[in-house]
Amino acid sequence: MKIVFATGNPGKLREAAEILGQGFELVTPASVGIAEDIPENGNTLRSNSLQKAEYIYKKTGLNCFADDTGLEVDILGGAPGVETARYAGPERDPSANIDKLLSEMARREKEAAMARTNGLSTSKANRDARFRTSVTLILDGEVHFFDGVMEGHIATERHGNGGFGYDPVFVPEGYEVTAAELSEDEKNAISHRGKALRAMADYLKK
Ligand code: IMP
Repeated sequence: MKIVFATGNPGKLREAAEILGQGFELVTPASVGIAEDIPENGNTLRSNSLQKAEYIYKKTGLNCFADDTGLEVDILGGAPGVETARYAGPERDPSANIDKLLSEMARREKEAAMARTNGLSTSKANRDARFRTSVTLILDGEVHFFDGVMEGHIATERHGNGGFGYDPVFVPEGYEVTAAELSEDEKNAISHRGKALRAMADYLKK
């Protein structure tokens, strides 16, 4: 089955091809004549993935899917969330995003430690976080949603060269290494996008 995946990110395309397996021919927007950036300005992950999938469907009439991912960090009150890609600015620079994340968390941890010292709080700051993915599939003009979550915590410094985005600082629950230190297969088996895309693949195979 030929299906357009609304991404220009080669890391994501490789992951999705691996997760969906044989039987699906994944093609990029560029290969079906969409060269421009696909608009993405919703307030939620779901509205963003819907917006991207609808854009492709309206232009091509082809079956397609889009995903949108957010990182929620507890000590930052759930930020960066829907702003994850642009956390450090519109350039979407992954390294600058990680630098900002680590410095914002260090600042909040310091504030929390001071509040405890002053007796204003007893809660201990933790570094818990999760990736959340929303996938929108448009199949024969009908819209379907699939979600996936990966729990974990944010390390204090980068480790590993694999994966992409925030992987070098994200330690999945039950692991002592970052997602950037896992093999692709290991990451796909537990990742937010792996879960959402497997749910979509199960639906498509039915
Ligand atoms: P988007 O869904 O491509 O817009 O991704 C939003 C942000 O989350 C970008 O900064 C990505 O680099 C990051 N991101 C998405 N998926 C992952 C992942 O699996 N690991 C690490 N970062 C990710």
